[in-house]
Amino acid sequence: MDPSGRLRGFFVAGTDTDAGKTFVCARLARLLGRVAAGRLSYLKPVQTGCTPRLDGTGAGGWSAPDVDAVAALWPQAKALACFEPPCSPHLAASLAGEELACRDLARRCADAVPEGHIALVEGAGGCWVPLNSQETMLDLMLCLGLPVVLVAANRLGCLNHAMLSVEVLQARGLEVAGIILNRTRPPAEGDAGLGSQAGPADELRILEDNEASLQRFAAKAGVPLLAAVPWQADAAAPVPELEAAAARLSERLARPQPRSSWPSWPSWSVPAGGESRESMAQVLAFDRAHLWHPYTSALKPLPVREAVAARGTRICLADGTELVDGMSSWWCAVHGYGNPALKAAMARQVHEMSHVMFGGLSHRPAVALARRLLDLAPAGMRHVFFADSGSVAVEVALKMAVQYQIAAGHGSRRRFLTPLGGYHGDTQGAMSVCDPVNGMHTLFSGLLPKHYFMERPSSRFDQPFDPRSLDDARRILEARQDEIACVVLEPIVQGAGGMWFYHPRYLEGLAELCRAYGILLVLDEIATGFGRTGKLFASEWAGVVPDIMCVGKALTGGMMTGGAVLASGAVAEGIEQAGPAEGGGVLMHGPTFMANPLFCATACQSLDLLMASPWQERVRSIEAWLKAGLAPCLALPGACDVRVLGAIGVVEARRPVDMARLQDFFVSRGVWIRPFNRNVYLMPPFVSSEEDVALLCSAIRGAFEAGLC
Ligand code: PMP
Repeated sequence: MDPSGRLRGFFVAGTDTDAGKTFVCARLARLLGRVAAGRLSYLKPVQTGCTPRLDGTGAGGWSAPDVDAVAALWPQAKALACFEPPCSPHLAASLAGEELACRDLARRCADAVPEGHIALVEGAGGCWVPLNSQETMLDLMLCLGLPVVLVAANRLGCLNHAMLSVEVLQARGLEVAGIILNRTRPPAEGDAGLGSQAGPADELRILEDNEASLQRFAAKAGVPLLAAVPWQADAAAPVPELEAAAARLSERLARPQPRSSWPSWPSWSVPAGGESRESMAQVLAFDRAHLWHPYTSALKPLPVREAVAARGTRICLADGTELVDGMSSWWCAVHGYGNPALKAAMARQVHEMSHVMFGGLSHRPAVALARRLLDLAPAGMRHVFFADSGSVAVEVALKMAVQYQIAAGHGSRRRFLTPLGGYHGDTQGAMSVCDPVNGMHTLFSGLLPKHYFMERPSSRFDQPFDPRSLDDARRILEARQDEIACVVLEPIVQGAGGMWFYHPRYLEGLAELCRAYGILLVLDEIATGFGRTGKLFASEWAGVVPDIMCVGKALTGGMMTGGAVLASGAVAEGIEQAGPAEGGGVLMHGPTFMANPLFCATACQSLDLLMASPWQERVRSIEAWLKAGLAPCLALPGACDVRVLGAIGVVEARRPVDMARLQDFFVSRGVWIRPFNRNVYLMPPFVSSEEDVALLCSAIRGAFEAGLC
């Protein structure tokens, strides 16, 4: 078989030795083999405890105990590497003067399975059984890439072994197709592991609880308990529980298999033990001397803290402090940190393909993510451009708008109109449409192109709309319609530029003006998108469909950078009309890491998690908790406004806050809040509890009460 070919089938692994893998394999081989009309091969890549079989010539090969047991029920059974000593594969091989190699074993497995056959590959013991000094059974599973069926003996400790096995398999990106819980001892014999005091009733209670608990915990990891097999007094009798398990596994076979990680799988390089960890002080000293942080001086930086772990809604610092997160790491971590499904999605993708160029190649993660985005986005969005961050998404959107106008014969439309107080990122094009003061346009004068700024949308989200707030936009559009390619703004919430929530009617009116002048509307949903304001996209508050929209942040689930630009069919068709001197219909952008598969696969999972969650209810609850928790701040002298929309809460201070001092205070109160300028604000993960939000709000109240802002 071509070594790059793929096996179909399952790898059967034990959660421990003596879990009854071979018993299960023999029956699964027969049941699945029948469904496959005989086209099933059982393989034991390494078998120890073999006895030489003499055939008269002295070269009869080996009698392999597991293979013989399976062959009694399914004749197409074979062991590949056989050793006499009944011990771990690496030890048995070295006693025989041989060395096992994972890739070699994987290749032999592939060669041993005829084309079109299902493979049932039985491991030896559990995941961390060594094959040589560097590699384990887990590496062999990764090389083969087959979904894994875990067999666990129903005895004391089985939950621990089973769930640890699930966790390690999923962490390495392997699919766990299911668990088979197996009773390996007759009830009368009792299980030594249950303790000498345990009577039959205790034993039954424990074993039944094992089954229920395993089912519950495995389900949380997305793994089904395929069967709980009772003790089989008659080894030859049919096992109905396994028939049901085989039926489910057959269904699994009908779906696509994950791809294996070989042929170019390198050995794990196990780091030499005891690599000493630098102290927190050393880490921070190097950081202070050499690292730039966002918006800080290299030589006199603001203090930073060492984060070492983040789980759920908590960020853990190197000194052991645990902080309740109020920032979602700048709008991204909507599912909290360390979500197992996101980690597993990324790990799976790492093992398949972490990156390939997008020029001339495509891949399923990109297509799957584009499909999801177009399904969720406002109707009319038809094309997706993947960018490597929010800022780059904005750059691409602005280029799209200019190319569209050039192609439409409006070559003079090369400027943008945007409200004051906006924020769109830190790259030059994006910065040129940020608020000129916050974006330091004077500092960069001569470098940044000059665009048009209109008054900030003045009507508050929660107050009556004043139609005069659109006058400035109308005036500039009327006067400069020949120069403006698009209006670009953040819908409903102006984020980093001031945390300002404006009236949906403003957006509605602006969209009408854009339409009237043939000027494109670009909505930057990078911060607001995916539920943060209480709608999936903030534009939904106004019922506005943009021509171009930018997304990022929550899309990534907080796992890694990425963004996307969505465009209407009309925008893409417009760009297409350009003559050769005007770009020839191609969009002039193509970053190296465009549509990075790790980002795409993780973002797909993030969207699936979001859409399967009661996100509206969660955001509504967070909104209520924020309102209740922050409203009292208004009575405090340092505060001049309190605003809450969806899962965003802002207390505006009268004066710019001392960020370093305030952060010390917040950390001492067990919360992670990073204020900016005059705004002390919260945008907690959607999975935050009422207690989390209450603690965040009480810390902010405390800061105002203490006169820190
Ligand atoms: N647009 C908006 C509205 C944003 O809030 C941000 C990030 N704060 C960006 C664009 C830039 O995104 P990124 O930091 O991923 O480049």
